Amino acid sequence: MELIYSTDNKLEIINYKNIFENEGINSNLKNTLLGGGSDPGHSQYLELWVDKQHLAKATQILESINTETELSEWICDNCKEPNESNFKICWNCSNADS
Ligand SMILES: [Zn+2]
Repeated sequence: MELIYSTDNKLEIINYKNIFENEGINSNLKNTLLGGGSDPGHSQYLELWVDKQHLAKATQILESINTETELSEWICDNCKEPNESNFKICWNCSNADS
């Protein structure tokens, strides 16, 4: 298998894994020991691995996701402040993205 993505953002990488599974790409999550309140300086990175035969397709999917993400700034329903797409909760009023 080939390493395609690593992050310390567990929700993000699980999301990618689900997307790959929906696309019929066999993927494997490694280093899932993140959490447990350890020192952030030593937080463990999660790695997403895919079958080599699916690497090209998986890379393409990741690229399309990241392109969309960069463009999808969202406006808070509650306070109308714009939020970066990587914020799931409004920076201003803590309202969740709907
Ligand atoms: Zn808000």
